[in-house]
Amino acid sequence: AKQRGRNHYHFYTQDINAQTYRHLMLENELSRALDRDEFQLHYQPQISLATGKVEGLEALVRWEHPEKGYLNPGHFIPVAEDTGLIEQLGLWVVRRACADMNRLETTGLPVPRMAINLSPRQFRQADLAAQYAAIISDAGIQASQIELELTESTIMQDIDKAVEIFGDMQQLGFRLAVDDFGTGYSSLNQLKHFPIHTLKIDRSFIRGIPQDRDDAAIVKAIVAMAKGLGLEVVAEGVEARHQLDFLKGLDCESVQGFYFSRPLPYDELCEYLQASESV
Ligand code: C2E
Ligand code: CA
Ligand code: CA
Ligand code: CA
Repeated sequence: AKQRGRNHYHFYTQDINAQTYRHLMLENELSRALDRDEFQLHYQPQISLATGKVEGLEALVRWEHPEKGYLNPGHFIPVAEDTGLIEQLGLWVVRRACADMNRLETTGLPVPRMAINLSPRQFRQADLAAQYAAIISDAGIQASQIELELTESTIMQDIDKAVEIFGDMQQLGFRLAVDDFGTGYSSLNQLKHFPIHTLKIDRSFIRGIPQDRDDAAIVKAIVAMAKGLGLEVVAEGVEARHQLDFLKGLDCESVQGFYFSRPLPYDELCEYLQASESV
């Protein structure tokens, strides 16, 4: 038994080593990727239910890896977060997003608003709000055109800190959104302390509507609660007509999801915006 135990231990460490190795490889490649300009932003439209128009875009980062092709953020954001590279990447994201907002405007396809994701480490980054504000004003974009998204669980990790940072961001004029709402166990009582504009209902609840009675009840309750607090609501992950119809019956402002569009590279976004304008 002892022998077997040792073998297990052996395999276990090999596993860990392989994992650490992969992690280190990725870490090296990531810092090079910033220098080599291998990141891209894709944009997913947010549609107003009242007008049917695009009222905002969410910027979602992609890595065009020289050998592995397109990598989604789930593959590299956690490593970037561990190593601190996320801070540099985050600055790049804001610059790129502002530049593309300007390009869209020049092309005659202006969008009112851009949503940008912040991970927990960025959230705790000293002076993040001031750094972003400087980048945005250099680009000639108003802070009120930028909505910073933080997940509910990030906020709940340190509520006092979150209230403080949100206060700074609000003073600089940014809009603030709670992402993946419904998954982070916040209470109404806590939410009312935050200067937020938008709740984004997590797509795990949208998936089941309207057939799943629990999901339907939860989505209904979130929308009603948001209204009571004077917040806007975005439903994430809308993939089908019946989901959209259910949301139209509620007082939900906007929707985002594959039903309308997947996240698009800049050129395809322009085509999408052109097509949706001529409707
Ligand atoms: P998120 O902020 O919740 O972004 C929404 C994710 O859902 C995106 O995945 C999007 O492609 C996907 N999605 C959109 N509509 C649908 C739909 O109808 N059905 C389904 N099944 N999925 C849909 P993506 O692009 O892989 O991003 C994953 C996560 O990575 C994001 O989740 C966000 O937390 C993070 N992320 C993305 N870009 C950035 C960034 O620039 N900075 C930071 N810190 N995090 C980012
Ligand atoms: Ca988001
Ligand atoms: Ca989300
Ligand atoms: Ca999510």
